[in-house]
Amino acid sequence: MENCIFCKIIRGEIPSKKVYEDEHLLVIEDVSPQAPLHLLLVPKKHFVNCLDMTAEEDALVGYIFRKAGEIASKDVYAQSGFRIVQNNGSGAGQSVFHIHFHLLAGRNLVWPPG
Ligand code: AMP
Repeated sequence: MENCIFCKIIRGEIPSKKVYEDEHLLVIEDVSPQAPLHLLLVPKKHFVNCLDMTAEEDALVGYIFRKAGEIASKDVYAQSGFRIVQNNGSGAGQSVFHIHFHLLAGRNLVWPPG
């Protein structure tokens, strides 16, 4: 998508702090971290949010969760626990309309979330 900020990051048109990349997925540091570890797992294919996905994406979502676990297992902040968050729609806090999964760790993550 031409004007999507995450598509621009994926294309290398906007700089980012890259943590991991492969043909399906980009993992970057969040520009405004809400925890000592705050990464964004961003699929390279553009989807608005989970309402925009079909059964074709089932494997991709599983892959993203497995990668999130892999990354968390190597991070010192995530040793005592971590959270994966995905916001759908502005009422839920979505501000970038290219699906992404927040990986948060390193502070007390309260429940229920705000
Ligand atoms: P959400 O509010 O769930 O849509 O999450 C969007 C996230 O993207 C926020 O946590 C922002 O801080 C983050 N963000 C926005 N622009 C950038 C950027 N250029 N690089 C890294 N993270 C970004």
